[in-house]
Amino acid sequence: MFTPREEVGQRSETVRRANLSAIVRELHLRGPLSRSELVAWTGLTRSAIRSLVGDLVAGDFVVEEAALRLGTPGRPSPQVRLVADSVVVLALEIAVDSLAVAIVGLGGEVHWKERVDRPRAHSSLGDIVDDLCHLAKRARDQRPSYQTPIGVGVAVAGLVRPIDGVVAAGPNLGWIDVPLGAHLAAALDLGAPVEVANEADLGALAEFRRGAARGAEDVVYVHGEVGVGGGIIVGGRPLSGTNGFGGEIGHMPINPAGRPCRCGSTGCWETEIGEVALLARAGYPLDGGRMAVAALIADAAEGRPEAVEALRVTGRWLGVGLAGLVNVLNPRVIVLGGLFSRAFPYLIDDVNAEISALALVASRRVVSVAPASLGIDAPLLGAAELAFEPLLADPVAWLGPRTGAVPQLVVA
Ligand SMILES: [Zn+2]
Repeated sequence: MFTPREEVGQRSETVRRANLSAIVRELHLRGPLSRSELVAWTGLTRSAIRSLVGDLVAGDFVVEEAALRLGTPGRPSPQVRLVADSVVVLALEIAVDSLAVAIVGLGGEVHWKERVDRPRAHSSLGDIVDDLCHLAKRARDQRPSYQTPIGVGVAVAGLVRPIDGVVAAGPNLGWIDVPLGAHLAAALDLGAPVEVANEADLGALAEFRRGAARGAEDVVYVHGEVGVGGGIIVGGRPLSGTNGFGGEIGHMPINPAGRPCRCGSTGCWETEIGEVALLARAGYPLDGGRMAVAALIADAAEGRPEAVEALRVTGRWLGVGLAGLVNVLNPRVIVLGGLFSRAFPYLIDDVNAEISALALVASRRVVSVAPASLGIDAPLLGAAELAFEPLLADPVAWLGPRTGAVPQLVVA
């Protein structure tokens, strides 16, 4: 069949860009790799790797440097390494009771991070944006060598419309249809794109790429604090749903005879496994927040019966919901974050017992339940990954001599 020459050229350029993306993504996620390791991880041929790494070296994007000899015979293979500190993103987080900012380099190194407490109260968009801009400026002042970020990622406790960064609903902030992305872009004035996403979705992304679920393609992440959020990765991709509101597993109806939920429904999973349910079971003050939960977990560690029993009952409800998710999604790893990771040793036996009792044998045999490994910063690190995504998807736009945040398109 005849194919016009121009079309062949376009196709080979598309393939080249996709291959460069695969190489930069592996280096970003795994750190320095030899050419042989790049062949193994990307599935590209040795000659393709040689040519593409040459392009990346010429574009001042990676360097090749001699590796240490590790007792193996022959010449050591040079390591291909990203010129990491030349490209940074700004990551921001609006959590239930804190605000955070980080400057993260390509490859995932955190150059600067700061988290400040925020009262658990409704906040105006203007106040939050002012506070975040103040934190971002302080980050910049602390690092004189700071580059203009190529992107800004924002994690927020709420339902987010990814297409325009509007927070459709943020119950903890008292927000409905708030254009967070547009306001932050104007206030930060960095000339860099601002991407906003739900904090649990970004926590899942971070644990999937750099934490407890690394190497798994199918992951369920459940994060418990005052609310219960979740993120689901299916076949290596985040599950988003039609509007981007998917993965709200805290609002799965689980107990129709249960308590009213903040969302207006009754008996959501959150009403059985969230902070308030846990504190109520142990007879602790319901408005005690994170401190009361920490006290409860400390009491469980000392063997105080009410605390131990409250965590066991919560673990059973957690296991009941997870058994359903195991049957629907057949995940490899379930990651428990927030209070569930802090209370992990006191919950996990009951969680596993319910999964064993209720989930299909074939699916439950392959799944393991692990505590989150990135702690409170998982959503913030996920926000950085979100901000890097355009570069990872098509690094060609950033190749060549870089000037500030302005991408230079190299036409092949
Ligand atoms: Zn609900």
